[in-house]
Parts: sequence; C-alpha cells; structure tokens
Amino acid sequence: MINFDYIRTSTAKAAVDAKNKNASSQFIAGGTNLVDLMKRGVTAPEKIIDINNLPLKKITADVKGIMIGALALNSDVAENAIIKSKYPLLAAALNAGASAQLRNMATVGGNMMQRTRCSYFYDITMPCNKREPGIGCGALQGQNRMHAVFGTSEKCIAVHPSDMCVALAALDATVHISGPKGDRKISFTDFHRLPGDTPELDNNLQKGELITGVHIPSNAFNKTHYLKIRDRASYAFALVSVAAALELSGNTINNARLAMGGVAHKPWRLTAVEKFLVGKPATKETFAAAAAMAMDSAVTFGQNNFKIKMGKAAVSEALQQATQKI
Ligand code: SF4
Repeated sequence: MINFDYIRTSTAKAAVDAKNKNASSQFIAGGTNLVDLMKRGVTAPEKIIDINNLPLKKITADVKGIMIGALALNSDVAENAIIKSKYPLLAAALNAGASAQLRNMATVGGNMMQRTRCSYFYDITMPCNKREPGIGCGALQGQNRMHAVFGTSEKCIAVHPSDMCVALAALDATVHISGPKGDRKISFTDFHRLPGDTPELDNNLQKGELITGVHIPSNAFNKTHYLKIRDRASYAFALVSVAAALELSGNTINNARLAMGGVAHKPWRLTAVEKFLVGKPATKETFAAAAAMAMDSAVTFGQNNFKIKMGKAAVSEALQQATQKI
C-alpha cells in the first residue's frame, strides 16, 4: 500500500472542500471496500478524508417517509424498528449482505459506493477497462460466471455487488448529495450508471460530491420479499437477487415494484414487469408470466448462461414468497 495523507473533517462542507481541492483524494467511512482496494493497488488516493465525525448517522421518519443518514451503519438500519416494520424489504436486503462484522462497519453511503467484485478488477496483472480504461476486459472471454446479463457494453460486463441498493431502487428512494455547487437530489435508479464507454465511472456523482443521505417515501406495500441466490449462505455476493414489493387488495395486485441484483452494473428495475402485474391476480401463473418477461432482454456470455433460468425462477419465487407472508 502506498503512503497517503489523512485528514478528519467534521462538517459536510469541510469534507466537500477538501475533496474538491484534490482530485486524487477519497472519502472514507467504514472502509470495508476502500481499504481492500488500496491494499491490492487497485486504487491509490493521495489523501484520505475521514468523514466519520460528520453528523450523518440519524434515521428519522415522518408521514412522508424515512430519511437515513449516509453514515448510518448497515446493521443499525437493518435493526431500526421503523425500518423493520414499515420498510422490511430494506431490512431483509441489508441482512442478506456481507457478514454481521462487515454490516457493523459499513455505512449506507459506503454500501452505495462499493465497487464491483469482478476478479479482473482486483487483479492488477489482468486487463480491466474499469481499473484502467482502454486496456480491455478480461471477463468478456474469460471467467464471467458472476457477470451481468442486462445493460452490458463491449467495454465492461461487471455487476454492482450491493443487496441494499437493490431494495432502495425498488422502493423509489432518493439520494441526497452535497457538493461544491450546493445540495441536490437524485433518484436512486439514476445514481448508478451502466458501463457504456466509461466503465471506470460507477455512478453519477460529480467532482467533490458527497452522499449525505437516502430518503425512502412512504408506501402501501403489504407484501415484500428479498430473495438472494448465492454460492454460500454464510457470505457471498449474489448470483441473482430479487427485491419484490406488492400492494395487494384481496388477491388483486394494485401496485408492484421489482428490482434485481447480480445481473447488471446497477440495480436493475423491472418497470415493464411492474406495469404488467398491476390489476392481475396474485397467482402462480401471473408470477410465471412476469418472470419470463423479466428475463426477455437478457444477453449472456458463456459461463453466466444459467442466469436466465435462475433469474426467471428467482423472480417467480420472490413474488410467491412475498404473497405468502402475513
Ligand atoms: Fe473490468 Fe468490467 Fe471487464 Fe470486469 S467486466 S474485467 S470490471 S472491465
């Protein structure tokens, strides 16, 4: 690991100013991903800006929804009584991610900023356009079992590794951001990017910007389920995951939200499938049709061909599991 400068800030403005002054600086909170990246030489910031003292840990609810500070720990959010009762999809997704030890360190903002776990990205002897634009993508013709089936480009087929983000995309969350030009908000589904010609960019944050929190609007979803399929139940990233939220009236679906993880460079919202579900009866047949529709546009790369069948089964199962909950 290289030498770096370290400063600790206590206001969002000071953190943003420090970041804006040095293009090679990075914010650190829990550090559960950044420290790995630095140890492996994938990233080498000249300056680390510690933001742990910023007042961004609170979780506050009102009739319009719930605001979660960017520095709230994943474990605190998952255990929050209001999150558990009114946004159980988020609690379930958080508890499906990483290990208890990591959830006790990782923050909401850091979870959003974590980088892909593509093995070529972490191995600095291998080609990777995300790590070094223009040198090629090792995964395209190589080990791509874990890789994307939606929204890929010829430059990169990596997936975003978060579970939490899949639930936040499904729940129509909004990201609150502070930056050199002031504060702004962005829809969660617009926060992460597809790789296109710029796979080195994971999200739409501008220079010097800091995530300050995430807001989830109130909703009437009375049936939700987060399903994660992975190689090891103890600790592994998703092969495929599904966040499903339904508003049922009797057996009729009044409203639906669906997002998938492990299939794209960002949480993958299934808006066409959501529209298809509205007004339909919550039956096995409806869910099977929705699942087939969900994987319609998937494109695979050899080792990840199985994700089409697995994706269909996961969507159907997540919807069924959701409806079976009291
Ligand atoms: Fe790099 Fe993306 Fe290719 Fe993985 S899939 S090697 S992250 S460019």
